[in-house]
Amino acid sequence: MSPTGSIPLVDLGAQHAEVAAEVAEGWAKVLARTAFVGGPAVAAFEAEYAEYAGVEHVVGVANGTDALELALRALGIGPGDECLLPANTFIATAEAVARAGAEVVLVDCEPGTALIDVDATLAAVTDRTRAVLPVHLYGQVADVARLKAELPAGVAICEDAAQSQGARRDGLQAGAVGDIAGTSFYPGKNLGAYGDAGAVLTDSAELAERVRLIGAHGSPRKYEHTVVGVNSRLDALQAVVLSAKLRRLDAWNALRREAAARYDALLADLPVTRPTVTPGNEPVWHLYVIEVDRRDEVLAHLTANGVGAGIHYPTPVHLTEAFATLGKRGEFPVAEAMADRILSLPLYPQITEEQQQRVVEVLRAAL
Ligand SMILES: *Cc1c(COP(=O)(O)O)cnc(C)c1O
Repeated sequence: MSPTGSIPLVDLGAQHAEVAAEVAEGWAKVLARTAFVGGPAVAAFEAEYAEYAGVEHVVGVANGTDALELALRALGIGPGDECLLPANTFIATAEAVARAGAEVVLVDCEPGTALIDVDATLAAVTDRTRAVLPVHLYGQVADVARLKAELPAGVAICEDAAQSQGARRDGLQAGAVGDIAGTSFYPGKNLGAYGDAGAVLTDSAELAERVRLIGAHGSPRKYEHTVVGVNSRLDALQAVVLSAKLRRLDAWNALRREAAARYDALLADLPVTRPTVTPGNEPVWHLYVIEVDRRDEVLAHLTANGVGAGIHYPTPVHLTEAFATLGKRGEFPVAEAMADRILSLPLYPQITEEQQQRVVEVLRAAL
């Protein structure tokens, strides 16, 4: 707990303390070698993460948004194609589709879990649909297995696994079920770098090679450019951090689960809706999101009392100015209703029981 007694939404300092020595040692090696972009540290992390995530190939890229965009471009998706994604996601999922040149088509989410509504997704498929991007929101895995079984042939599944590192559903790993996945190692994610970073995951050697090609200026060999690419690569300094943190990810996710279970118990007698976990899901609690009445007042009370709560996310994609053409208010009623009620409580591996009791005390007073 900080000296003022405030409790942050996430505590990256506490995480850093656990890996500081290993990161310093790894960084010294990178500095000695001066291989800053790509190189052995990146190759090592890619191999470690592929092994961890249960996929054949991992390609490190500059951030999670790029990961999704490059995944779609590797699938050959572009102008004239439609991609389905949930209305309640971080804006990046929609941006990736738009940046690939394809059309974003939104679908609603399920009440409770806030995961993509599979029935609504299947109903939204047209002859132009080329991909679905299920988002494993808050660390819980969407029903990719059902999508896979019921989507028509020719519609790819590109998982948005930015919030789900280590999560499973019915034994299947997030990011390893669809055709390809993009993940983010933004500092606050379960596996976070010390700056921007991301990766594409796939079992397909061909797709992995295409992602690598597009992310390296479309260049298979130096000064030869076969497609118009972008510059999106993973830095060695970030790879060192990610390798160090990856060794602790399962332990940290286990601590997140314990903290989530403690909140479940502490909140049992309060007039709030606790997170819904579907049978078979083993979430990694990227966020612990409750629903409350008068959410903005409750949030203001928490903030005023030093509790770092947040809203993920206050505005569904179609109600943002940037994507206003994607739908009107009322079109995605579940996502819209949740946006007004959701509240993320502080949650990170090192959060203490005392801190959680304090969060719930302040919340009780607010209610
Ligand atoms: C963080 C996040 C992204 C994008 O990641 P960046 O690394 O910030 O580009 C995409 N989708 C979801 C659901 C996210 O939470």
